[in-house]
Amino acid sequence: MRKVSIKFLGASGTVTGSKFYIETPEINILVDCGMFQGLKELREKNWQPLPIDVSKVDVVLLTHGHLDHTGYLPRLVKEGFKGQIIATEPTLSIARIILLDSAKIQEEQANKANEEGYSKHPVALPFYNLEEAENTIKLFSGVKKDEWIELSKNIKFKFQFNGHIIGSTFIHLEIFEKIFIFSGDVGRLNDELLDPPERPKWADYLFLESTYGNKLHPEENITEILSNLIQKTINDRGTLIIPSFAVERLQLLMYLLWQMYKKNKIPNIPIFIDSPMGNNVLNVFQKYPDWHKLSMNAYEAMCNHFTIITSYADTWKTIDDPRPKIVIAGSGMVTGGRVLTYLKQLIDEPKTNVLLVGYQSEGTRGRQLLEGTHELKMFGKFYPVKASIHFIESLSAHADQAELLHWIDNIKNIPENVFLIHGEPGALDAFKVKIRDTKGWECHIPKLNEIVDLWL
Ligand SMILES: [Zn+2]
Repeated sequence: MRKVSIKFLGASGTVTGSKFYIETPEINILVDCGMFQGLKELREKNWQPLPIDVSKVDVVLLTHGHLDHTGYLPRLVKEGFKGQIIATEPTLSIARIILLDSAKIQEEQANKANEEGYSKHPVALPFYNLEEAENTIKLFSGVKKDEWIELSKNIKFKFQFNGHIIGSTFIHLEIFEKIFIFSGDVGRLNDELLDPPERPKWADYLFLESTYGNKLHPEENITEILSNLIQKTINDRGTLIIPSFAVERLQLLMYLLWQMYKKNKIPNIPIFIDSPMGNNVLNVFQKYPDWHKLSMNAYEAMCNHFTIITSYADTWKTIDDPRPKIVIAGSGMVTGGRVLTYLKQLIDEPKTNVLLVGYQSEGTRGRQLLEGTHELKMFGKFYPVKASIHFIESLSAHADQAELLHWIDNIKNIPENVFLIHGEPGALDAFKVKIRDTKGWECHIPKLNEIVDLWL
């Protein structure tokens, strides 16, 4: 018998911070290396050293590029990791964009804390800086999906597409002939830009995300909501501001608006895209046409339909543009980014409409707007909210409960262990009961830093 230990170093009892460490007699593997995000109590966990010997980690495998799956990498390197960071090529492109952006934000926050003197430490240090992010990127090693990669004599893996964002995968890992499936974040069955997720056929040990383990996405007529709002914006001669995530959501919104225009569902209203990070992600779509459904002609026609803003001076010009217009800008939960400049200038006008798209987590400005706040604090000042606030809930990149059940429904065996990860406690508990009722499988919900020993 050979001992394989699993350490649940993140996304255990919570959504963010994905890190799963697998110690085997041959090689030690870290699956994902994410940052904790959201409430302060969670963010503080990022500063605690990992309860493992980082110099013994041989390799990191990434399911996809999102910060909650990659954002701890520069710290791992700082703590002594020297191996390869392996993922699909588009995942590494997205991870690169996200890590550089994250490092910039960390540096800015540390500088600001030092200037204003509100840090508890004499000199606030960034969680990592640009140079550390760049050193991390040097360890990136891209592989193809569906290709077996041998890690050691008895351990191999392959990445398989799972429809969440461009480049995203689940991991099929074989250790001494046992199959370990790491779901990553599972995508939607019907997505305009991405093919449906591939599904595992066998899993001896299943690590299953549970973000929407207790929820179904509502049936919304997104085209109708958008076209009504655009008509209202034209009638009011106002601005429709859509705060958006830069990865995938922005490209999906562009695609939907472009399609609506082509089908004569909306008039030719100017649409501005103001997201430097979103522009970089658009380049990833251009570079990896095999990873999405847009043809290159369609991609170019789509981009030409929008005014893509690159300089901050043009942000100000757009604000002063008196025509009715749509602006899509980051960040998605209004925590930072160019969207703040638009809101600061326009949120006190009744002719402004703000459309929030997707989940708005606790403690964010997006959540405050959704809950009807009468004023919003930006750059240290309060601004009265006179704009109308709207919400589309169903444009999510995550499978809901039914889609997750469909995803595991292709598994022919009864897994020896099912670990429910990447969910809030309510979602995890509800999903555990649902899986027991529908599949008859018993699931385990690991706690943060729990260790499970398997004998293979
Ligand atoms: Zn994700």
